[in-house]
Amino acid sequence: MNYISTRGAGIGERHTFSDILLGGLAKDGGLYLPNEYPKVTADELARWRTLPYADLAFEILRKFSDDIPADDLRELTRRTYTAQTYCNVRDEENAAQITPLKTLGVENGAPLSLLELSNGPTLAFKDMAMQLLGNLFEYTLAKHGETLNILGATSGDTGSAAEYAMRGKKGIRVFMLSPHKKMSAFQTAQMYSLQDPNIFNIAVEGVFDDCQDIVKAVSNDHAFKAQQKIGTVNSINWARVVAQVVYYFKGYFAATKSNDERVSFTVPSGNFGNVCAGHIARMMGLPIEKLVVATNENDVLDEFFRTGIYRVRKSAETYHTSSPSMDISKASNFERFVFDLLGRDPQRVLQLFRDVEEKGGFDLQASGDFARVTEFGFVSGRSDHDDRVDTIRDVFQRYDTMIDTHTADGVKVAREHLQAGVPMVVLETAQPIKFGETIREALEREPERPAAFSGLESLPQRFEVLPNDAQRVKEFVAAHTR
Ligand SMILES: *Cc1c(COP(=O)(O)O)cnc(C)c1O
Repeated sequence: MNYISTRGAGIGERHTFSDILLGGLAKDGGLYLPNEYPKVTADELARWRTLPYADLAFEILRKFSDDIPADDLRELTRRTYTAQTYCNVRDEENAAQITPLKTLGVENGAPLSLLELSNGPTLAFKDMAMQLLGNLFEYTLAKHGETLNILGATSGDTGSAAEYAMRGKKGIRVFMLSPHKKMSAFQTAQMYSLQDPNIFNIAVEGVFDDCQDIVKAVSNDHAFKAQQKIGTVNSINWARVVAQVVYYFKGYFAATKSNDERVSFTVPSGNFGNVCAGHIARMMGLPIEKLVVATNENDVLDEFFRTGIYRVRKSAETYHTSSPSMDISKASNFERFVFDLLGRDPQRVLQLFRDVEEKGGFDLQASGDFARVTEFGFVSGRSDHDDRVDTIRDVFQRYDTMIDTHTADGVKVAREHLQAGVPMVVLETAQPIKFGETIREALEREPERPAAFSGLESLPQRFEVLPNDAQRVKEFVAAHTR
């Protein structure tokens, strides 16, 4: 398997899975994709149906990472996808499933269910990929005798998923910036209660955008970045995307009795990372009917899939919503899909994403390409705060099931795209406890709290408060990497 950039650099060069594992963007600013998607045969699909999650992950990942010895990869997936790690399940007996399917009911002739992706250590779907990334990073670094210092900014889900994936890993340190006193008590406690010596929580006296600006400033200091071996784990990381492909297969098998059936998936989306994995699963040959992109008020993606216009938002137009992990101004993984939509023409991708930088977007409405969106199975919808509250209440009353705000966006939009006889699987991207305020508003009761999290907020916390100043952050990093 060789990897290429969506903008064309390095055509004819060799990039293996391990080569691109630790990096971010390709050197031309594009995103990495395999030179072609591996196809799944009918025999494989039949054999995979009954595999445990870890072994299914092995079979799928192997197709994308032939440079890692098979025995090593199998050991890595078995160590990652365990019932102990993904233990925060609704029903104890489902723990071994890793991503259990929760049936809600039949609506408009379509079986409606939730694929539980948030049973990992931080109660959000990002654990599904990040836990594997932690083990892959440790494995690859050890092989080359290298170390890595991960620098990131978070307003919640990504930072905690990264910290829980990297804690205690050899050769890795994490420096995570978060806005001082701006996160919920639960999210703060989740991150700051970690006592592992390789995890550094930096509370910046500023807002989330300030944290992001500091990360950019530090990353733009190329000498510092090289000297301190700084890396990132953001959502464009290819290994994260490919790890997410696995649960589309798992969800498909759980929702069907035979491989002749088709299934639709609805995916709460912001950065297009999760649903990009669904697109890849479909390209590999998984019988997916529709991929439904569900956004919140930040509807960059819904606008594109309805109109063909991709228009990134300015900060002032980016709303703070009650599904905050989807509050984005541009969708950083979207370029991977555009590359496929345009028949894999890197010159056109380069031009379009130059237009994004220079003019704030592009319009494919008039080109023949936009019509092909439906050939790829894509449709979309959006949801707002009132929809979210109504949906949380409705699902609780009707199905006795408590869902989080992001999943509620998914269920709301899924209901607009039901087809009789086609199972609709909504990806559950977080547990309600992470976004308790809206649960209280909708249900006038406390969110469910998994047993392992009782008393979380009263654990001792370990963090460093720093001013909103990139130089001070650099000094802190340098002082702790010696
Ligand atoms: C990150 C996140 C999303 C958005 O996922 P993308 O793949 O980045 O679009 C949705 N819901 C939750 C709870 C998240 O943490």
